[in-house]
This record gives sequence, structure tokens and C-alpha cells, in this order.
Amino acid sequence: MFNFPFSLQTFFVDIILPVPIPGYFTYRVPKDWEAYVQKGIRVVVPFGTSKVYTGVIVAVHSNPPTKYQAKYLLEILDEYPLINDKQLDLIEWIAGYYMCTPGDVFQAALPAGLKISSQSKIQLNPTFEEWEQLTEKESVFCNFLKEKESCTFDEAKSFLEVKSPYYLIKSLVGKSAIFVFDELKDRYSPKIIRKIRLTEYYTHKEHLTQLIGVLEAKPKQLAALLLYLQHISVLRDPSLNAKGLDKKIFTQSEISESSIQTLLKNEVFEVFEQVISRFSEGDDELIPTKFELSNAQNRAFQEILKSFETKDICLLKGVTGSGKTEIYIRLIQEALANGDQVLYLLPEIALTTQIVMRLKKIFGEQLGIYHSKFSDNERVEVWKSVAEGKYSFIVGVRSSVFLPFNNLGLVIVDEEHETSFKQTDPAPRYHARDVVTILAKMHQAKVLLGSATPSFETYYQAKNDKFGLVELNERYGETLLPEIHLIDTKYAAKAKQMNGGFSEEILDKLRVNLEAGKQSLLFQNRRGYSPYIQCQLCEWIAQCTQCDVSLTFHARDKELKCHYCGYKETLPTRCGACGGTSLQTMGYGTEKIEEEIQMHIPGARIGRVDLDTTRSKTAFQNLILDVQNGNLDIIVGTQMVAKGLDFDGLSMVGIFDADKIINFPDFRAHERAYQLITQVAGRAGRRGAQGEVYIQTNQPTHALFQAIIDGDYEGLYQEEIVEREGYNYPPYVRLIRLVIKHVEDTKAKKAANDLGNLLKQNFGAGRILGPEKPLIEKIRNLYAQEILIKIENGVSLSKFKINLRENLDLAQSWPSFKGVQLIVDVDCL
Ligand code: ADP
Ligand code: ZN
Ligand code: ZN
Repeated sequence: MFNFPFSLQTFFVDIILPVPIPGYFTYRVPKDWEAYVQKGIRVVVPFGTSKVYTGVIVAVHSNPPTKYQAKYLLEILDEYPLINDKQLDLIEWIAGYYMCTPGDVFQAALPAGLKISSQSKIQLNPTFEEWEQLTEKESVFCNFLKEKESCTFDEAKSFLEVKSPYYLIKSLVGKSAIFVFDELKDRYSPKIIRKIRLTEYYTHKEHLTQLIGVLEAKPKQLAALLLYLQHISVLRDPSLNAKGLDKKIFTQSEISESSIQTLLKNEVFEVFEQVISRFSEGDDELIPTKFELSNAQNRAFQEILKSFETKDICLLKGVTGSGKTEIYIRLIQEALANGDQVLYLLPEIALTTQIVMRLKKIFGEQLGIYHSKFSDNERVEVWKSVAEGKYSFIVGVRSSVFLPFNNLGLVIVDEEHETSFKQTDPAPRYHARDVVTILAKMHQAKVLLGSATPSFETYYQAKNDKFGLVELNERYGETLLPEIHLIDTKYAAKAKQMNGGFSEEILDKLRVNLEAGKQSLLFQNRRGYSPYIQCQLCEWIAQCTQCDVSLTFHARDKELKCHYCGYKETLPTRCGACGGTSLQTMGYGTEKIEEEIQMHIPGARIGRVDLDTTRSKTAFQNLILDVQNGNLDIIVGTQMVAKGLDFDGLSMVGIFDADKIINFPDFRAHERAYQLITQVAGRAGRRGAQGEVYIQTNQPTHALFQAIIDGDYEGLYQEEIVEREGYNYPPYVRLIRLVIKHVEDTKAKKAANDLGNLLKQNFGAGRILGPEKPLIEKIRNLYAQEILIKIENGVSLSKFKINLRENLDLAQSWPSFKGVQLIVDVDCL
């Protein structure tokens, strides 16, 4: 590095800080550091009276800020840019497009471990072993951390007796010796399993065969040993012994604990602990790696390549079970062979399933996984591995768009219609599917969007030749799409064919399916036991104290819970209004379905898949494995089960409450209902015989059902698109939603009205809808009002937004906006 000892200018840097304040911040560079500052490097700076943040440099210049006195940088963290130019451009683009601050985006983009601040908390990595890599000071600090669960930034500072401990902390993060996290909930807790293996002596074939002979006389111990050898074939390959066997496998089988203990005592077995991070490594030998593409798949594959010759974005519209994944794999292999990086986005929950294990098996060390259930430390690891080129292929959730790619060649967005690609809260409220198109453009990469039921926005682009369009209309292996039947619940009720929420027909089919050894899936999009409880005398309904919603009864916890703010209370015994004791649970949640089905079909092994049963990182995966291994007969689940699951034995699907999905008050209700029901139905009969789907509804003549039964996506699209055009909804306009919140109802209304009038004046009344109260008026004691802005295609979005921003800034300076929270959601869903 060179130095400019005689430079007369003063150096300033503009940096992004992780704070929700618009714009960049200018700091002064101490003379000695002038040679070291450059774009993309992280620096530590003082902020406000006492805070300290990590920011990233976006520009180096010699212009002092005009409105304030620039403070000096405290520390430079990187020798080389940690954040590349494309990432900085992307951050800026997102901030502009989604009308938030670069700081909001920066906050979302970087794992906490890469942006140490005065609010950071620090913890020793419990699995850290390479102490010899530490400097003396680092090692002293780590020993200090060893004695505590975690320490605050200030504690670190005073222990180290230095003004600025950042460099040391950063170095320790780099060596994976410590973790830095923002909040207690992010604290890293490794999962440790206890495993058993043979002691070294018995890994030798002659010792082992001898032992087997000896144990002939002790059948219980022999059984334990044989169970081990059945899983770990040490006789074939002694090195396999190192893997060991999860202790649980012994306890779950018939093996007695005492025989294990004896074998341990006699030093045949030994126990060791293994820390498992991320997912099981896909060492399942049953996962196949190689498939031949079918003719249809091959045709689609070729068409995609062809489309990429002239277009950057292609939609692969392939029915459920058509084997889109195989086509992705082929494309990924090509891109990697080309030396390009690949990003494969999946909706959150699909990431913990079979497909990821299979990808891991195929792509091995090149593949990194980026999941929201990862600890921050794991995210830092993935970040580093992408930057260093160790991972050239990332499978991840929406936030993986922020990883430090430098040579992206292909981006795949699977299940592109999924709403979970859009972040709702907090800002940046970005849509990962849309962001990747910009990201891809920066890298000159291709984008493949895949879905059986594309969003109408995407399909519209494809229809209008903006995107390529490739269709795959048959399932792999000539399996037929499931047959869909409607069950008229009104009629069934009259004919006395309803058992509570279940029609006789569904129960019968479940029994038949069970007897045939097949699995069934029941879909109910509500978790908990019952969505509300009601007094039978006065009709009082238990409500959340902070939100405008009823409380859901959760039977297992015997509690009423609010699904919006987390408020809980124990189940009351008396009515909150009249004091009567006849409270009744009303409606069906997954818990109640599980309970009642168990009652109707006593022998069935039932599993439930919803937010409550899958909170931990491995819970969902374990449930999936149980289904796959045939340990469950019936699965009851929420929309979590709609995404990308692929089970051989699942041949029947039952759908409850379809009416609620269809009648949801939203212009996208039919599109969504079609997607959701088709996707859930698509889980049935994916292999071999045709599957069956039963939908309970009290409006069986609704046209949407016919479209679903016929798989007539095109027909539905044609019909809806006319309405969208007629009433000015996407894809014919862009939508921006403004949400105005205040603790007082009247103040929220007043502010929203004032703002609404201003916008109508400046943008024309036709473009502004509302203000109106949202579906749920109050959440967490804040009352909300919404304004919807429609921007016709053809209007310059960027100009419109600048103008809108000015209007919003003006409104926020008004007295009526005091204490008001204003949220801007661009391309709201
Ligand atoms: P989609 O994502 O289109 O719903 P999947 O990619 O999950 O469908 O494929 C459905 C099933 O068919 C999977 O079990 C997959 O392993 C199997 N399959 C798809 N293509 C092939 C192929 N070419 N050879 C063998 N099996 C295949
Ligand atoms: Zn609440
Ligand atoms: Zn009452």
C-alpha cells in the first residue's frame, strides 16, 4: 500500500450505516489511514452521542459535509472490499425502488457478525478448537468469554482496556472463535448429539469376528452389536466406524439400555459427541444422483436454452410433479461447468426438504445453503465462502440475493408465485423474485422462474414476450394429475352426512386409503385448535387485548393466543361479558382436525405440520423423514405442506375451508386460491397410480373449482386479466401501499385523510384509493389506515417515486403526523 505523506487535502468518506435514516453519512479519515480507505471496505464510526456502528464506504472524496461537522473514523475493518461494487449498486437500487434507506437494505443484507456495533453481543463459539491460531490478547479475551454465556460490547471494551476493540473482535469472528449477534434470540446454540461407535480395537476384522463369536452366548448384547453393524458396515470398511451411530437409534429399537451399558463398560463401544450444524449432510445412500431426462423434460430443457439466446428471463410453467427440479439441475451443471456462479431461490420451508439433500449429494462441496433458521455465525460462514469462491452454488431464501457474488451466471427462482419471496416487515420490503432480475442484469446472468401456477404478473410478462415461456404439461413417468372431487358440505349436512367438520365421504376415503397402506394429507390453513372461543349465552368472543382479532385456542398449551402479536392468556373458565360458563371452541384449526381424525380413525398414525410443530431447525425435517419412511399415515398441515414436498406414498389429499380461501377480500383471491389448492392437490399421487383430492365446500358451483378441476390455469388467467385491466390492478398498474399507524384511532384517521387529500390533489383522485381501514384495524395497539396508489404502466416509476417521496416528507412535517408511523410498501401483495 502506498502512502501520500504530503497530501494537503483532507479525505472524507461517504458510508452506509445500518440506520433507517435516508442518505449516506460523511466521515473524516485520519491522516494515517488515507491510503487504506476505499469503496466496499467496512469502517467503524461513532454515531449520535454514544453509539458506534459498522458501515461500508461507498465513496472517497474531499468535500466536507455542509450541514454538520464530520467526525473521524474509529477503525478500518477490512484490507480489501468486503462488499463488491455490484452489491453496493444493488443496495442502492433496492433503496430507490422500494423507497427505503440504504441503511435499511444494509441492515438486511449483512449478517450481524459482519456489522459489529455498540449494541452487539458477543459469545464464544462453543465448538472452537484452534486456540493456537489466536494471538495472546485474543486468547485472553476468549478465556474471559468462556466463563460467561455472552458479554455486551461495553463489557468487552472495559475488559480489554482499549478504546476500540473492533479489530480484535473482527479478527476473532474471522477465525470463527466468537459469534456476534444483535439480539438474545439470535444466540447460537449448537445441537449436539451423542453417538456410539466401536472402540479402535474392535474395528479390526479379526477382533470383531472373535467378539461376535463370544457374544453368541449373550444374545442381547449381540443384538446391539449387530444393529450397529447393520447401520455401519465396519466389516466391509473399518473407516466407516468413525461416523458412529446416533444413540437414539438404539433406544428407539428393542435394544435394552443395559446391554449398551455393558458393551460400553467392556470397551466394545464408546460414546462420543458430535456437533451438528446445518442440515444432515445428505449422506443418505438412498438419494439418487443421476436421472435421464424424459423426452418432455429434454424438450423443455432445450427450449429454455433456446429462449436464453434472445431473452434474459424465462418462465418454466410445468405442472406439479413434472420434474422441474431435474431441468434446473441440468442447467445448474452447465452454468457451473462454465465457471459461473449459480443462485437457486426457494421458499423458506421447501429448503429443509428432500430436494436440498439431493442437491447436496449431487453438487457436494460447491453447494452452500443459506437459510433463515441458520445462526448468524453460519451466515457469516456462507458469506465468506461465497466471497472466497468456495461455494459457487447457493441454494437459499430471499436474503441470499445479498451474498457477495461476483460472477453470477444463472438464477433460478422456484415456486416463483410464492408470496414469501416478498419481505413484508421491516423495510426493505423487497420482492426477491424481482430483485434477482436486477441482480442478474448486473452480472449478465440468466433467470429461470419456475412454477406450476405462475403469478399473473409473471405470466403476463411471458405472454407479452418480455420473458421466454416454456411449458411442461405432463407429469414425470406418465403419472396422471390427481382427480379432484368436490364435496358439497351444505348438502352433506342436510343429508346428515357430516361428522362435525368432516363429511362421511372424506372419512371413508381416509379409511380406505389407510387400509391400502397409503398416506393421506389433510389441509387446513389455520393452526391451533380453534380460531375462536365463544360464549353460548351472549355470543361474546375472546379477543386479543392489543389487536382487533379473536384469540386462537391452543389445546396442547391450554392457552388462548394472538397470532398477530403473540399475546397469550390461559383459557378462561367464564365468559368475559356475562360471566357464564358455557364457552365453546368454534371452528377448526389443525390441532382439532388432528384430534378428531384420531377419534374417527383410531389406528391411524397422524402427524401435524404447522408453525407450532416445526419451530426448531430440525423438527420440520424430522416430520418429513417420518412421512418419507412411512411412519405416518395421515398428515394434517397448513400451507407449509403446499410447497415442493414429494412423497411416493401419498395418494389422497383432503382440503377443508376452501371457501374461506376463495372468498378472501382481495383482488388476487382467485389467483391465490387457484395456486394454493392446485399446489396442495399436487402433492397427491406423484408416483404410480393416480391420486385423489377431495375438497369440502359449500359453494361447489363456484367457477373457480371447475378451473382447478380442469387444471385450466389459462382460462382463469384470461378471465381475471380482463378484470385486472378493467379495474386497474396489476399487472396493468404498479401498486404502492401506504400504511398510517397511530395509537389513537382518530389520529390515524386524521393523518391518513390529510395525506390522502394531498395525494389526490397532486396525483389525481383516480390514482389514489382510500384511506380505508385494513382488514385488521388494530395490531399491537396501533390503529392503521391504508392508502393504495396506482401507477399506470408507462409512467416513469422513478420520477413518480421522487415526487411521492416529497409529498410524504411534506405530510410528515405536519402537526397531524406527530407520533404517526408511516410505512411504504412498493409492489405490495
Ligand atoms: P416438480 O418440482 O415439477 O413438481 P419434481 O422435480 O419434484 O417435480 O419431480 C417429481 C418427481 O419425479 C420427483 O420424485 C423426481 O425425483 C421424479 N423425477 C423427475 N424427473 C425424473 C427423471 N428424469 N428420472 C427419474 N425421476 C424423475
Ligand atoms: Zn394481538
Ligand atoms: Zn357470555
